[in-house]
Amino acid sequence: MILPAIDYTISLPDWVSSTLADVPEILPTIEDRMRLVNRLADQNWREGNGGPFAALVAETDTGRIVSVGVNVVLRTGISSGHAEVTALGLAQRAIGDWDLGGVGQPKHELVVNWRPCVQCYGATLWSGVRRLVVAGSGPELEEITTFDEGPMHPEWAAQFEARGIEVVDGVLRDDAIAVFTAYRTAVDADAVTVYNARSDS
Ligand SMILES: [Zn+2]
Repeated sequence: MILPAIDYTISLPDWVSSTLADVPEILPTIEDRMRLVNRLADQNWREGNGGPFAALVAETDTGRIVSVGVNVVLRTGISSGHAEVTALGLAQRAIGDWDLGGVGQPKHELVVNWRPCVQCYGATLWSGVRRLVVAGSGPELEEITTFDEGPMHPEWAAQFEARGIEVVDGVLRDDAIAVFTAYRTAVDADAVTVYNARSDS
C-alpha cells in the first residue's frame, strides 16, 4: 500500500510575523497578552485564514511570549488547526518537549479569546500548561459567530482546576465580543466560510 499522505504541517501565515514586528518579547500583564490575542483573532478572519480565533503561550511569571497561534483551518485544509492547537504545538516545538509543565520548565499559560472548543479542551489538558486565561466562556461565542464548539462538559473549568490548571475568565471580554460581532457581519454577508461539525440534517 502506498499512502497518499504521510505528514501534515500546521504553520503560521506570513502576516503574523509582520503583526508581531512591533510587539515586545515580554508582555507583563494578562491584559497585554489578551490584547495581542484579540488583535490576531481580528486580523485572522480578515486575512481569510480561518475563524476569528487566536491564542498564545506565555511564561506566566515573566510574561515572555513563547508562541502565538491563529486558526489555520481554511489555509491548511486541516480541521484540527485551531488557534489553541497551533499555539500549543508551536510552544512545544520551541521548548523541545511535549510537556510544557515538565521538570525544569517555567509555569506556562495558554491565553485564548474565548473558552476552548471541545477539541481544544482536550489539547489544553494534555499540554502541560498550568493556567488558562480566556476572554469569556458563555454562549456568546456560538451565538454571535455561529460556530459549534461541541458538547463541552458543564464542569469544564472545575476539571481543569482538578488537574492543576488554573482558569482565569473575563479578561478584555468586551474586546473579544467586538471581534466576534465584526466577524458576524461578514457571515451575514456570506463573505466568510463557517466550518462546523456535520449536523444531522
Ligand atoms: Zn478549538
